[in-house]
Amino acid sequence: MKTVLVTGGLGYIGSHTCIELLRKNYNIIIIDSFVNNSIDSISQIKNLIRKEYKIFDLSITLKKGDIRDELFLDNVFIEAKNQNNKIDVVIHFAGLKSVNESIKKSLEYWDVNVGGTLALLNAMQKNDCRTIVFSSSATVYRHKINKQISEESELMPINPYGRTKQVIEMILKDKFNEKCNDWRIINLRYFNPVGAHESGLIGENPKINPTNLFPVIMNKMSLSERIPVFGNDWPTKDGTCIRDYIHVVDLAKAHLASLEFLIDKRSIFLSLNIGTGIGISVMEVINTFSKISNCKIQYYFDRRRGGDAPYVVADNRLALATLNWKPKKKILDMCKDTWNWHKKMIKT
Ligand code: UDP
Repeated sequence: MKTVLVTGGLGYIGSHTCIELLRKNYNIIIIDSFVNNSIDSISQIKNLIRKEYKIFDLSITLKKGDIRDELFLDNVFIEAKNQNNKIDVVIHFAGLKSVNESIKKSLEYWDVNVGGTLALLNAMQKNDCRTIVFSSSATVYRHKINKQISEESELMPINPYGRTKQVIEMILKDKFNEKCNDWRIINLRYFNPVGAHESGLIGENPKINPTNLFPVIMNKMSLSERIPVFGNDWPTKDGTCIRDYIHVVDLAKAHLASLEFLIDKRSIFLSLNIGTGIGISVMEVINTFSKISNCKIQYYFDRRRGGDAPYVVADNRLALATLNWKPKKKILDMCKDTWNWHKKMIKT
């Protein structure tokens, strides 16, 4: 069986992806700095896979280290090879991911996201591993009013976080373009990942001051506070902003499908939109949460948030045509699983 290195594998999307890899019997090596994640995540992953899928023979190794530390990375590759587990593929999640924070700490974002990727690519090159699935983002695009975004749409990120993603994609393209290259690369441009594993055993760990809509709703509901809705005068169906929310398990499955697609190829470079193609407004999200939680969620209309775009929805046709993948979960599942995870977390 193939061995997959998952950088940042204890994070929100990383841990759900590890579950999907383990379900398919891949050997996985996770590296994580524990800066944003805790060591407990590894037992949560193991516990879930045993409990939900009755898989007891797991090949999972965890290494603590910084993605910028090339020596550390090199040793991970060498050690795996010495144990007859040569790393075949890398899924690269490690990096900082808050748009707001990136505006305040731009150098840190360039250092960790771009510096970390350079260190990783050097280690991969040295150790003869040339297959990578990169965790990119729809923030790389320039947003257009009421038009779905395809991979051909113009790129123009408006914050440091998005710019680091764009630059990493460019670095990967340059690597791919080198003479005699045989790299296999997919950039997955995520739209809005939400939800949690349906078991309620893993999900997104709440921040004290979340800014994304789903964690804000969970946070405000638990504090019995009202939710600010940023703008009700946008040119959309109900005046609130529209996004393409994608369930984290569907997103995790897109990584598995990408990896399986790449393994068969000789050399390829691709960027794929990972979304459902369905636009959901802020009010629709709030109403769905009201329905599944059986309580009337309180909200108020606030001013538009700086940098927001009214409509960000994927044209996902290329991903559907390329990968053996299709998102299955609807907005109701996304809210239900988020709510379920949140309730369980509060109890523990
Ligand atoms: N949003 C909101 N209130 C909040 C947080 C978010 O109305 O407290 C809106 C936000 O303006 C956007 C949508 O919810 O239209 C999704 O926001 P999020 O930050 O989750 O994702 P992004 O804007 O980065 O796509």
